[in-house]
Amino acid sequence: MKSSPLDKIEIIRESFLVEGKAMASISFRISLFLLLMYSIYMVTLIPKISASPSTPTPAINIVIDPGHGGIDSGATYAEVEEKQVNLAVAEKLAVALEEQGYHVILTRERDEALSDSSPRTEIRSRHQRDLIQRGAIVNHFTPQIILSIHANSGSLTKRGGQVLYQAKGQGYLLAHILQQKLNHLANKNEVPLKNKSLYLLNRSKSIALIVEVGYISNPFERELLLNHAYQLELVNVMVEGINEFMFCFPWSITTR
Ligand SMILES: [Zn+2]
Repeated sequence: MKSSPLDKIEIIRESFLVEGKAMASISFRISLFLLLMYSIYMVTLIPKISASPSTPTPAINIVIDPGHGGIDSGATYAEVEEKQVNLAVAEKLAVALEEQGYHVILTRERDEALSDSSPRTEIRSRHQRDLIQRGAIVNHFTPQIILSIHANSGSLTKRGGQVLYQAKGQGYLLAHILQQKLNHLANKNEVPLKNKSLYLLNRSKSIALIVEVGYISNPFERELLLNHAYQLELVNVMVEGINEFMFCFPWSITTR
């Protein structure tokens, strides 16, 4: 039977349709396969991503320095001494960081002045001896991160945390992250401040920050700073910040 040109067109069209369906089917299967592979990849990857901030690289040493102590009370308002607040927050922070796998050293674990245990008795200034002793502890443990915990003072109305970092700027990234976390807690919008004169910050090659956890001079915040639950909130945001920093910028610390 002789086929007309119209029949030929119909045959060609049908073969295209069959081929098209086959092609569509193949590309559908390839897409399905790729989707499956991607899902498997994500399922194995997601736990790693979410686990990483809480599983820092081993052997990260962190020195926590509760500011003041003993005869040096720091700022005092309404019989609340800064040294008590600093130690309470610092001890909780040390426990929380150890739980995360960091190696933590506290420069003091009780209400004591480090100037008393300083071997440099020829130095008359108690404050100077205290700082030298803190510096000696810091250098002995060669930490990657040093956090000196203090409370701010001077204003009845100011509130919220303030992070200070070293003049050379090596602690800026961690300072920025911690400041954001503290801002969020107090609903503030502060920036971390560079400090050129603080002994402990600028005698260390490691990342060294001063974390002022709040204003002891503000009656409202003073009550918060004495509150166990609020101290834990402060600690939680600081641990979160350190984990995020370690996850995002592990290259910026010097490992020894
Ligand atoms: Zn202080």
